[in-house]
Amino acid sequence: MAPMSQSHPPHESYAELIACHECDTLNQIPALVPGRMARCRCCSAVLLRYPKGGLDRPIALYFTALLLLLLSNAFPFLSLEIQGRSEVTNIFGASWALYGAGMGELAVVVFITSILAPALLISSSLYVLLGVRLHRSLPAIRTLLSWISQLEPWVMLDVFILGVLVAFVKLGSMATMHIGISLVAFIGLIPVTAAAQAAFEPHLLWQQIGLRRGNKQHAG
Ligand SMILES: [Zn+2]
Repeated sequence: MAPMSQSHPPHESYAELIACHECDTLNQIPALVPGRMARCRCCSAVLLRYPKGGLDRPIALYFTALLLLLLSNAFPFLSLEIQGRSEVTNIFGASWALYGAGMGELAVVVFITSILAPALLISSSLYVLLGVRLHRSLPAIRTLLSWISQLEPWVMLDVFILGVLVAFVKLGSMATMHIGISLVAFIGLIPVTAAAQAAFEPHLLWQQIGLRRGNKQHAG
């Protein structure tokens, strides 16, 4: 019995093995087309889903995320007025202020989880997606694709926003706070990045890269 819900796989010659996350059965997965999914031949659990928009959907979402990330770092994040004194800061300024206050480890964690890891995740995901979408053999594309899943746990934009909200509540009675455009962009960045990560399907990208290698070797 065929394991797939897909009726006419376009590249019968390429197939990879995926272990079912429900019953551990090994399934052969031929290349999928947008809008199709692969199910386990034993328990029918969905193993792989290729969204209808294909790669265009994660590309559009990651481009939006890149724009929001640039906006959230380019403008003031928050301005604070306390006893006639006014302070304006951005995300980098926040981690720098932590460093200045003797909390070096925390400053590094904030910098990595709120700036560095999101920037690396978004740029490397776009690089891989565009390389596959435009059928280009870009350098280090396989290395980057394997790094992406390891980068994801380091992206903690929501934790940073939670900290900002706590500060809002605690300082609200003592100081006047103004929300900057960067904070709005940063809040928008959280659902957009989550949607982009959900639309990003590494198995499909490995499949596409494997197919291209297979075709090249076949042509050679
Ligand atoms: Zn199964």
